[in-house]
Amino acid sequence: MGDRRVEVEFSENLKEKPKSDDLVFGRTFTDHMFVMDYSEPVGWHNAKIIPYQPITLDPSAMTFHYGQTVFEGLKAYYTPNGDIQLFRPETNLRRMNHSNDRLCIPPIDEAFVLKAIKQLVDLDRGWVPTAEGTSLYIRPFVISTEPYIGVAPSHHYKFMVILSPVGAYYKEGINPVKIAVENQYVRAVKGGTGEAKTGGNYAASLKAQEICERNGFTQVLWLDGVEKKYIEEVGSMNVFFKINGEVVTPALNGSILEGITRNSVIQLLNYWDIPVDERKISMDELYQSYLDGTLEEAFGTGTAAVVSPIGQLNWDGKDIFINDGKTGEVAKSLYDTLTGIQYGKKEDPFQWIEKVPEGSAIIN
Ligand SMILES: *Cc1c(COP(=O)(O)O)cnc(C)c1O
Repeated sequence: MGDRRVEVEFSENLKEKPKSDDLVFGRTFTDHMFVMDYSEPVGWHNAKIIPYQPITLDPSAMTFHYGQTVFEGLKAYYTPNGDIQLFRPETNLRRMNHSNDRLCIPPIDEAFVLKAIKQLVDLDRGWVPTAEGTSLYIRPFVISTEPYIGVAPSHHYKFMVILSPVGAYYKEGINPVKIAVENQYVRAVKGGTGEAKTGGNYAASLKAQEICERNGFTQVLWLDGVEKKYIEEVGSMNVFFKINGEVVTPALNGSILEGITRNSVIQLLNYWDIPVDERKISMDELYQSYLDGTLEEAFGTGTAAVVSPIGQLNWDGKDIFINDGKTGEVAKSLYDTLTGIQYGKKEDPFQWIEKVPEGSAIIN
């Protein structure tokens, strides 16, 4: 189905668009959405773009009971010459199929879905905000829809893509955050679903997040689920440390989500000849590097914030202060370069950008 253009049912009640400077994350959705269904034996079918609207599901739909779901997150950016472009979208769809595999969800046709996403974004291109730092968040997701409350992989699924204009993550400039090292709860364990982008991982993380916020921290730093000794991720971002001139990030081990920003950061550091190592890193080692004065930077990476510097970590009551609470040089260069590429203001040596051509939404 690679070459097919998706049929469009145009919305007759176009919504009022929010102003670029009062956008809040994740509460406003555009005029249209993409949907397609899966059932056996036909596979994925009924792909179409329709007005954004509620969906009807049977109360026994399996997704409500056993959480067989997968999602993705990427963005469309508005460039100074009026183009709209995506950042490494095929990587998101490849990852979606990895997640699908882990959750026993049938694979999607990545090339077809990428075309459908471009068609949808093109149709709603007036929704891509133009103010500095703003973007259109793209949320592809899949849910199991079979009406059955037995525990088994569903035979029916719904795949959807919705779009939401989002404001600048850093309205008042980048500000390093305070992070609590989580010693009680864990996000994922090896062999579990940590490397899949699935709702259950987020449900499991809410409790720790709630407690850390109550204590004045922004997010938690997750440790490995077995020994609570090795560093995994920060909130819903991957994490990097610069220790004694070398950048270190936890190696992918089956419980860490393989971030596309993480991968892009590693490629950029290699390109700049800055040493970067993917390996196990323990809290003991990190704390020792702080005591030795060799802990130079710490930052999280993810699509939402791109790079989020960490100014302070609290581990078992002990404070770790990083770079005097200021954004480090490497974090700043990475942020400037990645956002520069995403917004079409810097050259793209890795061919990460995929344009959304105008007119791809018109059916002829
Ligand atoms: C999505 C996600 C990330 C970041 O991935 P990006 O592709 O860089 O946005 C990191 N950790 C978790 C748990 C995630 O869900």
